[in-house]
Amino acid sequence: MSRQWVTIRPSAIYLRLKVLSATRGMASESNFRAHMKSNMTASAKTNKVNDAFINSFRKKMLGWYDKHQRAMPWRATNKKDKNPYYTWLSEIMLQQTTVVTVGPYFEKFIAKWPTVHDLAKAERDDVMHEWAGLGYYARARNLHKCAQIVSEELNGVFPQDQKELEKLPGIGGYTSAAIRAIAFDKPANVVDGNIERVMSRIFAVTEPMPDSKKHLKELAGSLTKDRKDRSGDYAQALMDLGATICTPTSPKCALCPVIALCDAKKQGIEAELPKKQPKKAKPHKYGHVFWVENTKNEVLFIRRDEKEMLGGMLGLPTSTWEVDKKTLNKLPKAINQKRQVKHSFTHFDLTLDIFTVNFDTLKASGMILPLNNHVWLSRYTVDDVGLPTLFKKAVKLMQR
Ligand code: SF4
Repeated sequence: MSRQWVTIRPSAIYLRLKVLSATRGMASESNFRAHMKSNMTASAKTNKVNDAFINSFRKKMLGWYDKHQRAMPWRATNKKDKNPYYTWLSEIMLQQTTVVTVGPYFEKFIAKWPTVHDLAKAERDDVMHEWAGLGYYARARNLHKCAQIVSEELNGVFPQDQKELEKLPGIGGYTSAAIRAIAFDKPANVVDGNIERVMSRIFAVTEPMPDSKKHLKELAGSLTKDRKDRSGDYAQALMDLGATICTPTSPKCALCPVIALCDAKKQGIEAELPKKQPKKAKPHKYGHVFWVENTKNEVLFIRRDEKEMLGGMLGLPTSTWEVDKKTLNKLPKAINQKRQVKHSFTHFDLTLDIFTVNFDTLKASGMILPLNNHVWLSRYTVDDVGLPTLFKKAVKLMQR
């Protein structure tokens, strides 16, 4: 595959084509639970959790984790093998993505860039290329920036303090807590979607999500606060319980180590929690995507502007994406619609009409301006270049 980069204004072709286009002091767990039952409401306070409950909960969770923890390529089986770089990398990759999807990407990254210094020295385009398919591409850009800061300004050492971690690109409250607990075994309130679900059930919180998020975080925090024993294992135990036992539908309560402490199970409402607000319909957007071929069976790709969706990634040229189809510019006859590609992003669904056009025709008719940030790729090998899923789908349709 040859890459021919041309040094002319990046938005030129885009623009042109657009024109064309619990209570303290309670002695026993059972006392605590009776108290919980009579008092727990959607606005339950965290001071209902007492030491006996916390000790029991954590002991059961850690005992279960020792036997049933999931094996993952970034997980250290003992303390001395902990690697903050692995923890950070995996946590960034796992945002909005599943463990199964992330596994091969993580392996690929650490094989190519074994340390944070190696990743910092990588070309950003290379990082974006290897990230392709994981989605949420701003994460990849921040990942690279963060690696450079940790490597160049912090001597390759990730901070242990959450506030310091959160000063780094791409690290928010959840990720800083996860890194502090998992990489450094320090107390932190790690609350992801799995842990929210477990908390909502243990405490039978009936207030719907997302309004209940703050309350669920407080409840999780009440079980973590001031506890210094096996912070990383405890956080990962909750994550694993949520992922494998306390699942969104049909939780496997018979296998659950904390069934005796679970209010939702006791009330028979475990499958109904966490309650959710009715979903709003996703907006649908429309646009054009252009398959521009030259006489060498090569197809035109451009690197997308950082501020756009899929920013920094290679893609086929597109029009803007609009909710009102009528606002899209009409295209001349030299451009033929061939197919349609559909893709669902988190916040909207997208339908793009695929138009084909010969580059020479465009040039001859003066419809195209000089190009920048573009590359011509063989239509037969374009699958290998690491495109975002939207453009992979369009390419597949056009290769048929
Ligand atoms: S008993 Fe069931 S609902 Fe309760 S925490 Fe365990 S798996 Fe979840």
